[in-house]
Amino acid sequence: MKKNNTGIFVGILLIVITLVSFSSTFFIYKKGINRQNVQNQGTEFQNTESQDTIKVVTSFYPMYIATMNVIDGIDGVELESLSEPQTGCLHDYVLTTEDMKNLSTADVLIINGGGIESFIEEVAKTYPDLVIIQACDGIELLADGDEENAHAWMDVSLYEKQVENIAAGLSEYDSANADKYKANAAAYEKRLQPLAERMSKLKEQYGGGDIIIFHEAYDYVADALGMEVVFVMDLDEERQISAGEQADVLTAISDNEVKLVLADATYGKKMGDVVDAESAAKTIYIDPLTRGEYYEDSYIDHMNENIDILERALTDIDGN
Ligand SMILES: [Zn+2]
Repeated sequence: MKKNNTGIFVGILLIVITLVSFSSTFFIYKKGINRQNVQNQGTEFQNTESQDTIKVVTSFYPMYIATMNVIDGIDGVELESLSEPQTGCLHDYVLTTEDMKNLSTADVLIINGGGIESFIEEVAKTYPDLVIIQACDGIELLADGDEENAHAWMDVSLYEKQVENIAAGLSEYDSANADKYKANAAAYEKRLQPLAERMSKLKEQYGGGDIIIFHEAYDYVADALGMEVVFVMDLDEERQISAGEQADVLTAISDNEVKLVLADATYGKKMGDVVDAESAAKTIYIDPLTRGEYYEDSYIDHMNENIDILERALTDIDGN
């Protein structure tokens, strides 16, 4: 009896031990995979994980919208942008701590290039592994004097080229998705095409003649319209305008019989009002697309509005 009881007890104990050891073996086995990976690969482990997602950062709004369209629907690509510049273009933008933190985990940085991102050398030095794609690559930039003007996104056909460059750069980095990037770029370009066609129609109808611009980005708008820029007053940030400068603008208008001035509403309104009050020219306000809402059709919508404004003004001038 005692022997029997011991037998049963031992039997139960054996079953319990077997069950416990089986489940704990299973548990350890499962965890073992992770542990082994961590141990074998050390810091590599984190990279293995982030290789599943590619983190793409863009320098500012037009690059973000272009890239957003290029990566549309592709799994494992994450898109972020640097902090917003407080005023106008990125020219004098200083990277924030948040930006540096953001870039430290980025795989690819997409910039406009042509000198607009003045911080890029510092970034390339700090993060030598970061892949930098320049959307302006291969685009013949306009120049203001001996300074390159890189606001190429303001010309729809050049923006299309930028979209292609972004797709080509991403395809090279992430060749598994190359076809998808290229197909997305082609689809986006197809949707941009009506804008380019509207611009060439305007050029055909009203092109030529002289124009004055209050933002160097509008050099590209003038160029797309086949118009000659006879005076540039760069009002892309809050600043004082001297009486001398004001007089120079009015003289340039009368000397060249300029009928149209392109300005940015945020910083060019004061000078635009002077032009409208004291000269025969008319100031119109279009969007330099350096900032805006972050959705896929944002560039298309705002460029369409710009073209609406241009079309109305050019029709008016033609009618007078
Ligand atoms: Zn600018």
